[in-house]
Amino acid sequence: MKIGILGGGQLARMLILASPKLECEVKVFAPPGDNTVDGLCPVTKRNFRDTEALREFISSCDRLTYEWENISIPDLKSALEGFSNRLFPSLEVLELVADRYTQKSFFKKHGIPTAEFSRINDPSELERSVLGIGTPGILKTCREGYDGKGQKVIRDREDIKNAWDELGSVPLIYEKFVNFERELSLVACRNRQGEMRFYPLVENLHVNGILRRTLAPAPLLASALQETAEAYARKTGELLDYVGVMALELFQCGEKLLVNEMASRVHNTGHWTLNGAKTSQFENHLRAGLEKPLGDTKVTAPTAMLNFIGDVPELTESDSRVTGVFVHLYGKKPRLNRKVGHLNITAASPEELFEKLKVLEPKIIGRVPQLLPSKGEGS
Ligand code: AMP
Repeated sequence: MKIGILGGGQLARMLILASPKLECEVKVFAPPGDNTVDGLCPVTKRNFRDTEALREFISSCDRLTYEWENISIPDLKSALEGFSNRLFPSLEVLELVADRYTQKSFFKKHGIPTAEFSRINDPSELERSVLGIGTPGILKTCREGYDGKGQKVIRDREDIKNAWDELGSVPLIYEKFVNFERELSLVACRNRQGEMRFYPLVENLHVNGILRRTLAPAPLLASALQETAEAYARKTGELLDYVGVMALELFQCGEKLLVNEMASRVHNTGHWTLNGAKTSQFENHLRAGLEKPLGDTKVTAPTAMLNFIGDVPELTESDSRVTGVFVHLYGKKPRLNRKVGHLNITAASPEELFEKLKVLEPKIIGRVPQLLPSKGEGS
């Protein structure tokens, strides 16, 4: 089987690296300039808007998947004509997920809780929503916002004009600011036969909207929360006849979970699975697309994932010799706020993991790690 991947960033790279044991051929279609997959497989370097080249690429693949949601849907639709059943997750899923408003409306319609939100098309709608939903809130672009881009916090009515001036040229949503206890996410996988597997909920730390650290499994987690998150993912998977990995980003508010966002692809908060789970999210995504049984999602060790943002931090040789430390580099040039690699740290127990984090985390994200909350805190 030939699997084509749309996009040539680190997610494509990790999918390619997971492919050899699945006896499939992988190739990539990526815009010129993307270089994290060079040398790993055949790469067609053309712009996504070049629908003729895209169509030729698609016609040469048995299955097709994508590593980001911001591909132009009309172009992809026209290139996929006659081949749409090759794409996983489907075009319908991509269309739904690529727009924050349609995505959130889907969750609302199906009783999956989110922050209160409303669609904004003009300044008067923004005024009305800020009054109705209240402050603080966040104005977000419906499309192409990632890593905190395309967002403006509105603390009071005085902020409305500036926020509109900055973002108002494209469709927006206004969302109530959630005072969450912590951010969690669920990575799940579903295959064509409807089999579904779930990784445990993980705890995520974002700084300025960018993921810095994932702790897997999330420390001190009530099992009811895992069940709730799995129920949301199962419902979503079934309603959309979903194939592949999905990630639900969640806010924990006491015993409640609100969905912040869904990604219809492998996800940064699942990178820990490369070293901390029996089967990685990348392998499972390919398994789902290839109609193979899904791999075991069981955790093999408590794991922390630390993103390298901007550049690769200097780790001493003794740091990298610590057992259970795995460095993953993406071959990208350093650039402000760019994800250039990550570190997975595994340990025999959560306590040992936090001891390792105390040493390594300040070197990577430049701050003292938040220690395990004492028993009874969290939930
Ligand atoms: P997003 O691009 O929607 O994933 O947002 C990036 C980050 O901004 C999230 O991981 C949160 O840390 C924060 N954030 C987004 N939406 C909200 C919200 N409604 N309330 C509080 N924080 C938010």
